[in-house]
Amino acid sequence: MSSLIERWQQAGMNNYGVPQAAFVRGEGAVITDEDGKQYVDFLGGIAVNALGHAHPAVVAAVTQQVRQLGHISNFYVAEPPVALAELLLALAGRAGRVVFTNSGAEANEAAFKISRLTGRTHVVATHGGFHGRTMGALALTGQPAKSDPFRPLPGSVTHTTFGDLSELSEAVTADTAMVILEPIQGENGVVVPPAGYLRGARDICDKAGALLVLDEVQTGIGRTGHWFHHQSEGIEPDIITLAKGLGGGLPIGACVAFGRAAELFTPGAHGTTFGGNPISCAAGLAVIRTIAGEGLLDHVKRVGEQLRRGVEGLNHPLISHVRGAGLLLGIVLTAPEAARVAAALKEAGFLVNAPQPDVIRLAPPLIISTEQADALIEALGGVL
Ligand code: PMP
Repeated sequence: MSSLIERWQQAGMNNYGVPQAAFVRGEGAVITDEDGKQYVDFLGGIAVNALGHAHPAVVAAVTQQVRQLGHISNFYVAEPPVALAELLLALAGRAGRVVFTNSGAEANEAAFKISRLTGRTHVVATHGGFHGRTMGALALTGQPAKSDPFRPLPGSVTHTTFGDLSELSEAVTADTAMVILEPIQGENGVVVPPAGYLRGARDICDKAGALLVLDEVQTGIGRTGHWFHHQSEGIEPDIITLAKGLGGGLPIGACVAFGRAAELFTPGAHGTTFGGNPISCAAGLAVIRTIAGEGLLDHVKRVGEQLRRGVEGLNHPLISHVRGAGLLLGIVLTAPEAARVAAALKEAGFLVNAPQPDVIRLAPPLIISTEQADALIEALGGVL
């Protein structure tokens, strides 16, 4: 057995179960395990490594920031968090208020807290939605296997069928503080709602005076070929939450509130020691500037299409179709064989995962090359 995995067990570590591999190095979209075997990383740390591993811009920004100024108390401020907040608002194209966190779950906790400042308490979320593992985020999450052992969970949350506007409109009442949903459900297997769902949710929230919170932790920061996926539907949420790709490998999350939500969210209402720490923010700035500077949003759309067409073009009876957007794709199988296919792809040197028994998820770094995409399609054909 791998020596690192053995040590993991002896050290009593416990997160997602016994690790499937131990890695020692990464460069671009390629990572190397402790035996020296190389893999093309089509999982990107599940959508975290926006620019791949050891991207020179991130390495330079982080190194420079560590040398110049590390963590300071959040009574003070430094340039990187200010610049990153400015940039996020500029990308959203709206004025607002930003609070930085350390993770996606915490960004959603912040949104949950803001919703209480409306004076209302009821929340509507979605079946299958995933918002994190802290108690509040778990209450929003619509995956009973993850949340049921921890009941009672905070708040009064109604879960509705993702994509169903009539159910949503029935669930939202005069006491609904917020509706929270993912533009595309990532953990649930890259589930895409019908066109017009986000716009419909916006209308329902407007009529009831509820906040619309979009969890863009997995879909944001270029993942789908847009800075934020909701921009593809041209709607304006009251709050967006971000994490994962924002830090390009460093821990950071953000809760970005606009309009009425921003006014409610007065300074001092939320905070965390490391939130907005200069090093993570320097990484975030490098990520966003590189995506913009290298035209990666267009690249994401192109390679995403290439992958979709290539996989569907395999015309294999085990493949039903490909869903998702940009570089967040779910290969839907006609049988519950996703774990076996993922394991075989790993043998062949490609990392993917199986968020559902019949779905393989692709979420590679945004810098994945057309050659690497072709190689995955070929390997998938071979494995099938
Ligand atoms: N929201 C979504 C949509 C996610 O995919 C995740 C993580 N998979 C989270 C929230 C939680 O983020 P974190 O693990 O950083 O707490």
